[in-house]
Amino acid sequence: MKVLVTENLRIDLDTELYECRHCGTELVSARESYKRGLLVYNRDPREIHKPLLDPSKYPRNYSPNPDWCRILEYYCPKCGTMMETEYLPPGHPPLHDIELDIDALKEQWKDREEVLEAPIGNAPPKRKAHGHCGHNH
Ligand SMILES: [Zn+2]
Repeated sequence: MKVLVTENLRIDLDTELYECRHCGTELVSARESYKRGLLVYNRDPREIHKPLLDPSKYPRNYSPNPDWCRILEYYCPKCGTMMETEYLPPGHPPLHDIELDIDALKEQWKDREEVLEAPIGNAPPKRKAHGHCGHNH
C-alpha cells in the first residue's frame, strides 16, 4: 500500500520508505526526514530574487542578503524533479517538516483502497468493500 504525502512524495507502507511520485525511486526510511534521500542545492537567494535597484548604488535593493538567507532546493536523485524548497539562515539545518506516525498510518489505511492520484474536491478515500455499504455489520 502506497500513501500520497505531497504532490511529489509518497510512502510505501510495506517497505516504510519514502518514494518519488514521479519516477518511483525509493528515497529513505519514512521514519526519518525525507530530505535525507534527496539532492540539495544551497542557492544564493540573489539568483532567485534579483536586485530591483543597482546594488553598486543601493545596499538595500529588495534582494535577500546571502549572509542572512539561503534557499535550499531539494531534488529527486533519479529524475531531478524539484521536491521542495525552503528559506533558511546560512548554516541552519534543514527543517524536519514532515513527521508521520507510520504505525497509525498503517492502521488508518488497512481497510482503504490505494489512492494513486490525489482526488479533486473533498471526497474521502474509498474503503475496501466488505458489504453493501463498505463496512461490517
Ligand atoms: Zn524521481
